[in-house]
Amino acid sequence: MSGYQDFTAHIATINDILNALSVLTWDARTQMPPGGAATRAQQLATLSQLAQERFASDATARLLDAAEIELGDADPDSYPVRAVRHARTGYDLMRRIPAPLLGEVAAYRAAAQQVWVDARAANDFARFAPSLERMLELQRRLADAIGYEGHPYDALLLRYEPDMTAARLEDLFARLRARLSPLLARTQASHVTVRDDFLRRDYPEDKQRDFALEVAQSFGYDLKRGRLDRSAHPFEISFTRNDVRMTTRYNPNYLPAALFGVFHETGHALYEQGVAPALTRSALTTDFVGQYAVGGTSYGAHESQSRLWENLIGRSRDFWVRHFPRLRQCFRTQLRDVTDELFYRAVNQVRPSLIRVEADEVTYNFHIMLRVELEMALLDGRLAVRDLPQAWNAGMQKYLGLTPPDDSLGVLQDIHWSSGSFGSFSTYTIGNIMSVQLFEAARQQTEGLNAALGRGDYTPLRRWLTEHMYRHGRAFSAREILVRATGRDLDPAAYLDYLDAKFGELYRARR
Ligand code: ZN
Repeated sequence: MSGYQDFTAHIATINDILNALSVLTWDARTQMPPGGAATRAQQLATLSQLAQERFASDATARLLDAAEIELGDADPDSYPVRAVRHARTGYDLMRRIPAPLLGEVAAYRAAAQQVWVDARAANDFARFAPSLERMLELQRRLADAIGYEGHPYDALLLRYEPDMTAARLEDLFARLRARLSPLLARTQASHVTVRDDFLRRDYPEDKQRDFALEVAQSFGYDLKRGRLDRSAHPFEISFTRNDVRMTTRYNPNYLPAALFGVFHETGHALYEQGVAPALTRSALTTDFVGQYAVGGTSYGAHESQSRLWENLIGRSRDFWVRHFPRLRQCFRTQLRDVTDELFYRAVNQVRPSLIRVEADEVTYNFHIMLRVELEMALLDGRLAVRDLPQAWNAGMQKYLGLTPPDDSLGVLQDIHWSSGSFGSFSTYTIGNIMSVQLFEAARQQTEGLNAALGRGDYTPLRRWLTEHMYRHGRAFSAREILVRATGRDLDPAAYLDYLDAKFGELYRARR
C-alpha cells in the first residue's frame, strides 16, 4: 500500500473506536438503566484512552510523514491533502498536552459534574465552588500546555473554534451590543402585546412527535439513516453519515419545546447526513482534539446549521403560513381559536429571561456574552470563583435588567463549566452569525429560493448548503467555508440586519 493508504487505514480504525464510543454515549443517554452508569463510565474511559493512545502514537507520526511526502505536489485543497493536514494539526496539538493531564481532566469531569448536579439541586453555589476552582486550575494547565500568545482563552477555544480568539470575540460582541441593546429596548418599550396562552394547552406527545418528524423529513432528514428518540437533554449524535440520530423531550403542556428542539437537532443532523460518502471513516470526519467522530468542521459551524433550520426557517412567517394548517389538523381543539399569524408571533416573542436555553433570538446573545466575559475573567485571574455569583447577577442586570432570585436560576444553570468546556459558549453566537451569512448567500446564489421556501420546498436550500458546506466535512475550517461560500469572513452585519428587520416589524406599534 502507499503511504497515504496506510495513513487512511490507520485513521479509519481510530474513527471506528470513536464512533463506537458515541454509540455507547447515545445508549447511556437514551436507553441505559441507571444501574449501568458506573460500568458504562469505565467502558467509555477505556475506549477514549484507546483512541487517544492510538492517535498520539509514534506510528501516527511515521504515517503522517510518509503521507505528507507522497502528497507533496497534490492540490492543497484536495481532500487527501486536507485530511493529512487536519490530522497533522490535531497530532501536533495533542502531543503538546501531557497524557496524565488529559486523564486528570477526563477523570475530574465526571466528579465535578456530579457536584454541580447536587449543588444546583440544593441551590448552593458554595458547594460547587471548590470543584470549579479545581476545574479552572486544570483548564489553565491545559491552556499552558497547548500554548497561546494573547489570552489563555485562545488555547481553550482551539478545541471548538480554531480560527477564533478572545480579541476577535470581544470585537464581535461589541458590534453585537451596539445594535442589540437598542433593538431590545425598542421591543421592551413597544405597546405590541403578544398572545401565547395557547402554547400551554394540552398537547399529546405522539402528535407532537408526528408533526416534528414530518417537518424534519421535509427539511431533508433521512430516516433510513436516522431516528428520533427521547432524552432528558436533546442532542444529535452520529455514527458516520449513515446513522445520524436525534433526541428530544416532550412537554405535554408547552408545545414549542419539542417542536423547535427537533427543528434544531435536524439542522445538526442534516450537516452530518450531508457529508460526502467518501469521507466516511476518514480524518475529515474525525475531531482529533475533542476525540469525537464528527463531520461538522467546528462547533460554531455546526450550530450555524441548527440555528438556520430552527430559527431562519422554523421561526419564519413563511414557514408558519405554510405549515400551520397541518399543525392545526394535529391539534384541532387546542388551536381552534389561533391563526398562523398569532402562532408566528407567539413563537417569536421577545422577553428577557433568566434561562439561556429558553431565550428568544434577540436576548440569546446577551446570555452568551455574559458567560464568555466571566470565563475570560476567571481564566486570567481578574475574577475569583467566590465572586462569580455576584458578577453573574450584575451582568444579568446590566444586559437584561433581571436579577436571578437564586443561583440555580443564575450561575448554576449550565453544565458547561463543570464539564470543563471553557470556550464552547462562544460558538453559539458564532453559529447565529454564520447562519444568516450562509442563508443570505444561498438566497443570492439560488434562483427562486424564496419561492421554493414559500412552497415548503426545502430541497434547493439543502442542496446549496450540502454543496458549499456539508459535503466537505472537516476539509475546510469554518472561516474557509464562510469565505468560499459567501465571500466574507465572519461578520455580524447581516445577522443584525435580519434581527432588526424581523423584530422591528413584529414590535412596531400598530396605530
Ligand atoms: Zn445545537
